Amino acid sequence: MEWEVVIGLETHVQLTTQSKIFSGSSTAFGAEPNTQASIVDLALPGALPVMNRGAVERAVKFGLAIGATINQRSIMARKNYFYPDLPKGYQISQFETPIVQGGGVTITLDDGTTKFIELTRAHLEEDAGKSVHDLFDGASGVDLNRAGTPLLEIVTEPVMRSAKEAIAYAKALHNLVRYLDICDGNMQEGSFRCDVNVSVRPVGQKEFGTRREIKNLNSFKFMQQAIDYEVRWQIEQIEDGKKIVQATVLFNPDTGETRAMRTKEDAMDYRYFPDPDLPPLVVSDADLAHIKAAMPELPEAKCARFASHYGLSPYDARLLSQDGATATFFETAVKTGADPKLAANWMLGDLSAALNRDEKSIEQSPVSAVQLAGVIARISDGTISHKIGKTVFDALWKGDGADADAVIDSKGLRQISDSGAIEKIVDEVLAKSAAQIADYKAGKEKALMSIVGQVMKASQGKANPAQVNDIIKRKLGA
Ligand code: ADP
Ligand code: MG
Repeated sequence: MEWEVVIGLETHVQLTTQSKIFSGSSTAFGAEPNTQASIVDLALPGALPVMNRGAVERAVKFGLAIGATINQRSIMARKNYFYPDLPKGYQISQFETPIVQGGGVTITLDDGTTKFIELTRAHLEEDAGKSVHDLFDGASGVDLNRAGTPLLEIVTEPVMRSAKEAIAYAKALHNLVRYLDICDGNMQEGSFRCDVNVSVRPVGQKEFGTRREIKNLNSFKFMQQAIDYEVRWQIEQIEDGKKIVQATVLFNPDTGETRAMRTKEDAMDYRYFPDPDLPPLVVSDADLAHIKAAMPELPEAKCARFASHYGLSPYDARLLSQDGATATFFETAVKTGADPKLAANWMLGDLSAALNRDEKSIEQSPVSAVQLAGVIARISDGTISHKIGKTVFDALWKGDGADADAVIDSKGLRQISDSGAIEKIVDEVLAKSAAQIADYKAGKEKALMSIVGQVMKASQGKANPAQVNDIIKRKLGA
């Protein structure tokens, strides 16, 4: 039997506000336990929540970016459950009317095909605290620093059909929230966590199978492993005649397996109701207009502009506009004077290869955009050849020199364009190349290439290749 995989994602995106969603406590990561928990976060009787405007603005920004409906009047609701890291006994979230509804994200797969991933909603909520099990002997501690951290929970429709699509979506979303500067995207610190809902059904069947939800995946690699394992497990169960029971499961990175944590609660179990401590959340027309006006240029628009304004191919334009840091690097190089097409070639060629090799992100590139522009400028003005450009690039990468000019001078790489000097080298080479000269005169074009190669070598790659060609041909009476 052939099986089809069905996946929907719920992603918790931590918003970049300085303070918490309902209190003035700091959201900074890594502080001593319970030093960033105010009376609101501790749920002391009578302490009242006040909505953080910055969190609302970020949610709206996201909604606008994905073409969603912004509900200008949305409702904060209590989601009731008991857990030691939740002192109020409920989490403030949104239920019936979320602030962001609909919209979607376009993903690009490895083979270049695209797919539109519809979103169900994105709602504002607070994070819970953290139980600490490894600090005390025979007892657990509760750290409420994270309690009340603002989250945007972004929910997709069950429209993904493979682990590949799910990961492409998660990466696109990760990119987008950083682009919008509403989340730092730090997955190790838990700023971007994905819950992946997975089910399988026989190909051709209309109804969805029963899903299991894999909780809190905080790396793309684990996401891939967890989905692969879960899909195999579900298919085996069904083929063995067993039923899938809806459940929440955890992925264990050490074993690569998923394991049921609890059978899944239904929404009803949470007894959602509007939080009487918070009035309806209203985004005024003026606020909305203000946020719209401050929207950054989005990847799609940037891609179109890179193609039309800089004359890049659609493929290059897409690669360079997909994340903010890459786009900024490119535009900085161009504004510093680099030819746009050459800058694109360098970034997608040598720079990207070097970043991959040393496992660095573009933000960590040892060669800055301005330095790269310097290398390109010296190639364009004929100071160095393209090949020597690579040598200069490598030297800058290693930190040998402040800029292209410094490297060219200190290593004596300036291209020899003085025809007298080139002629001298050509004469020396020709004097030793009787066989090649004879071949060339007998009509073997290849022999010329060999002579050019020797002259280039003798000049340590510094002779201007076009001039070398001309001079040799002239001397051989071509
Ligand atoms: P809950 O309210 O229990 O979290 P939802 O209906 O809101 O459940 O769905 C949660 C997520 O699960 C959504 O991302 C949705 O796309 C996904 N989902 C729903 N049904 C299935 C299914 N049968 N298989 C895979 N994913 C599903
Ligand atoms: Mg849910």
